[in-house]
Amino acid sequence: MKTHQYEAVVVGAGGAGLMAALYASKGGAKVAVISKLYPTRSHTGTAQGGIGAALGNLEEDKPLWHAYDTVKGGDYLADQNAVHVLAEEAIDAVIELEHMGLPFDRTPEGRISQRRFGGHTSNFGEKPVRRACHAADRTGHMILQTLYQQCIKQNVKFFDEFHVIDVIMNGGVCVGVIAVELGTGELHVFHSKATLFATGGWGRVWSVTSNAHSLTGDGAAVAFRRGVPMQDMEFYQFHPTGIYRMGILITEGVRGEGGVLINNRGERFMEKYAPNIKDLASRDVVSRAIYLEIREGRGIKGKDYVYLDITPETVNRYLAEAGETRRLDRETVEKKLPDILDFCRTYLGVDPVKEPMPIQPTAHYAMGGIPTNVDAEVVIDDKWTVLPGMYAAGEVACVSCHGANRLGTNSLVDLVVFGRRGGKAMAEYVKGIDYSPLPANPAADIEAEIARIRGSKGGTRPGVLRSAMQKTMMEGVGVFREEAGMQKSLDTIRELKSRFQTDLHIDDTGMKFNTDVIEAWELGCLLDLAESAAASALNRTESRGAHSREDFKQRDDEKWMVHTLISRPQGLAPDGGAASFEINTNKKVDQSLAESDERFKPKVRSY
Ligand SMILES: Cc1cc2nc3c(=O)[nH]c(=O)nc-3n(C[C@H](O)[C@H](O)[C@H](O)COP(=O)(O)OP(=O)(O)OC[C@H]3O[C@@H](n4cnc5c(N)ncnc54)[C@H](O)[C@@H]3O)c2cc1C
Repeated sequence: MKTHQYEAVVVGAGGAGLMAALYASKGGAKVAVISKLYPTRSHTGTAQGGIGAALGNLEEDKPLWHAYDTVKGGDYLADQNAVHVLAEEAIDAVIELEHMGLPFDRTPEGRISQRRFGGHTSNFGEKPVRRACHAADRTGHMILQTLYQQCIKQNVKFFDEFHVIDVIMNGGVCVGVIAVELGTGELHVFHSKATLFATGGWGRVWSVTSNAHSLTGDGAAVAFRRGVPMQDMEFYQFHPTGIYRMGILITEGVRGEGGVLINNRGERFMEKYAPNIKDLASRDVVSRAIYLEIREGRGIKGKDYVYLDITPETVNRYLAEAGETRRLDRETVEKKLPDILDFCRTYLGVDPVKEPMPIQPTAHYAMGGIPTNVDAEVVIDDKWTVLPGMYAAGEVACVSCHGANRLGTNSLVDLVVFGRRGGKAMAEYVKGIDYSPLPANPAADIEAEIARIRGSKGGTRPGVLRSAMQKTMMEGVGVFREEAGMQKSLDTIRELKSRFQTDLHIDDTGMKFNTDVIEAWELGCLLDLAESAAASALNRTESRGAHSREDFKQRDDEKWMVHTLISRPQGLAPDGGAASFEINTNKKVDQSLAESDERFKPKVRSY
């Protein structure tokens, strides 16, 4: 077994991982990035709409307004110290990306162009503001390419197509990870002083999702199994506009450019649910509105979808009605949303400049994950105790700057702001210390578990369990929830976990590029995260942000201005479903902005 030694190991080569690697390396650390995908295939590359920063290039804007929108959008569950950092440092981070060569769209004066996005307003909710900086509808692609080039320039070492399957702890310190080299099936030990997880989300828990096949929550599951609690797992965001049945995302930028949602009566129904900012209300609000329209029989052709309309004819009618002078033409749509038009023409045979697009909510973003402080250090309890040597950033982490519901464009900000902070913190941390020793046989446990999966000759192929998990989570732990449905999903997941243990069937027993074994292992991760999401959701007896309960419709600030921390017994395999989770709700939400400013205190959210 090969052992490698790097001061800082970064797992994941999306926006968060690359930013962290870049800064750890600039700070003088010897850095390796391990990625199961070739770096520029990471999901960050699919981010379409933009990255939020209060640059004020087209109209007045301030970081404090950005912070207000983020706290309100997150339904007051976000930690306000983290939100403050996010909104303040966004500006500098975006300008830094520009200086690295990121080709942002421009205003006629040559500044970075900005557009509207859901929940982003000026002057504490007064009216929508243009805050999303964009490079057409390929902003994430450009961020990824730019950061990858910078890392290459900085001589960061990449281990591409290496799949991390365990984290190594020794005496309460994180000392590295174990990875499979996909091309050979060999295990490698990576011994480090600091390890940062940036493995992205787990949308593949649900059947309709905007997330790539690779988003199976590996980093979160690996940490969870080694004793790190997961925070706020009940908060999972459904994006309102996925292509009907396929889940492929249609960016909120479409509505930012003036697009509107329409039901089967031709009504712009968001006027009813959010009279003030209408189609640009935050995502949880819009997703629920779509579900309600469908439930009340106003889906298109009686089916479970509605229309998203960006045809210049419709948009201009509403712009005129609102007294706006701006008009939309076909060329602008083609220029600003090229990829979206391409998706719809290719996959649906629908031309969005001539006809509306059929859409439904799609599982999109994990607000919860590995708890960290604002320097991306992993914290393991309600007292903010740091786990030495372990860091997390990006979607896998829960800082928590998104609270109960993330605003559009704030994830890309999160990646660069907290990725950068994590990179800097690791560079400092590794300077003064020696490598902590590895435990004896660090790979023994996971080697045995992989061998068990490889040799499984039961009666159920992984795909069967995966579909069953996705179906039950969609039904019970989706946009709307109530006790019986969540309990049923939880029971089903536990049964699936036990079948995963006892009845799995693997066809391919080879070593090279054995996707059969790896995908089964990923399914185990999804099952662990699905179970923790369902259990956390059952435990929270209120509605807040993306967690909307029909049996507890009100937000309860008396009892629930706290984060959920869920822990499971240590062990590498899904544990067959013992109901042995521990849930801790003593971690209070940071409300430091509210201490000096009334406007940041929780109030009923309306748009
Ligand atoms: C379609 C779509 C559009 C979006 N649009 C926007 C937008 O416009 N604005 C916005 O702010 N947000 C947007 N988001 C959200 C945002 O893009 C993601 O939250 C963000 O890119 C996640 O970045 P990340 O660096 O955390 O992880 P990712 O970019 O997902 O990268 C994860 C990395 O981890 C690696 N990895 C995972 N598991 C392992 C393992 N076991 N071993 C080794 N490596 C591993 C992968 O290889 C990959 O390199 C969008 C998301 C989607 C899905």
